[in-house]
Amino acid sequence: MGLDKKYAKFAANKAIELLNIDSPTGFTKKAAAWVLDAFRGLGFKAELTNKGAVLVDLGGKESESGAVLFAAHADTLGAVIAEIKGNGRLRLSNIGGLQACNTEAENVNVYSRSGEVYEGTIQLINASSHVNKDLGTTVRDFNTVEVVLDEDVKSAADVRKLGLEVGDFVCPFPRAHITKSGYIKSRYLDDKLSVGILLGVAKYIKDNSIELQRRVYCLITVYEEVGHGGSTSIPSDVREAISVDMGCVGSGLQCTERQASICVKDSGGPYDYDVTDALVKAAQKEKADYALDVYPFYGSDVEASLRAGYDIRHGLIGPGVYASHGYERSHIDGVFNTMKVIKGYLGI
Ligand SMILES: [Zn+2]
Repeated sequence: MGLDKKYAKFAANKAIELLNIDSPTGFTKKAAAWVLDAFRGLGFKAELTNKGAVLVDLGGKESESGAVLFAAHADTLGAVIAEIKGNGRLRLSNIGGLQACNTEAENVNVYSRSGEVYEGTIQLINASSHVNKDLGTTVRDFNTVEVVLDEDVKSAADVRKLGLEVGDFVCPFPRAHITKSGYIKSRYLDDKLSVGILLGVAKYIKDNSIELQRRVYCLITVYEEVGHGGSTSIPSDVREAISVDMGCVGSGLQCTERQASICVKDSGGPYDYDVTDALVKAAQKEKADYALDVYPFYGSDVEASLRAGYDIRHGLIGPGVYASHGYERSHIDGVFNTMKVIKGYLGI
């Protein structure tokens, strides 16, 4: 049964919906509720874990080879207010690998605990180039950039009157957009694009009434960006856990945004040889355009599973994503090729 490209478009459109829900690590309830509804809406059993992740059972037969789990994550980079300054500006503490240099001049939503949402912009301190001669040479870090709230605030007391306090979440706008040429541009494609991909695969299975030859789970985690998303909630019948997460694109690597990336090794060491081998064979069987790569600075949810003590074999695939942890770019072809690899791996 052929996998139609309409499923890749479905995946990308679902990803855009999810991208528009702010969900930095630690503030993922709304995103998880959306994921739960999305899988249930396709007719699958899904449940929220205590930790706030979503575990989905795609069905399938009991099999000697056990179950397989695909892990993607719905948490993203972001920040919290570290300090409300005397002049009403906000110093930030970043969540995950958010870099000050590529958040400069980005708009943000700031969420108070009482449920108010305020807008602001991350700017260099003293950001007018007609005033600050060192603007071009100042090193950008979270001591030299700050949030300028779009409210009439001149003091810390003014900010507190809005209901804002230290620890409130600050979410840079995703700016999610698909071009006519099929490029998908947004912050946080890592890893909401892969959540879309798993939804696309789930829809393909449902629409075509595919009988899975082994049990298949999806785990959508919510603490990946801080390193422990995949450390729990893996069902006991799972033998292989495969992270579906962004594929690295950059100097010295082979993958492009239009391909599926199969990771052989990252900062956590090599992935399971046989799982990687099966992913490569799946890509070849489905004629998916793919690239094998070694990621220089990367860790995945399924490595967290191994560190937590799960006796599983692990693998990592995903659509190529350029400018990762910044304003990221992928392509509908990368989505489609990744879906083909998953299809081939499951033999469906
Ligand atoms: Zn990721």
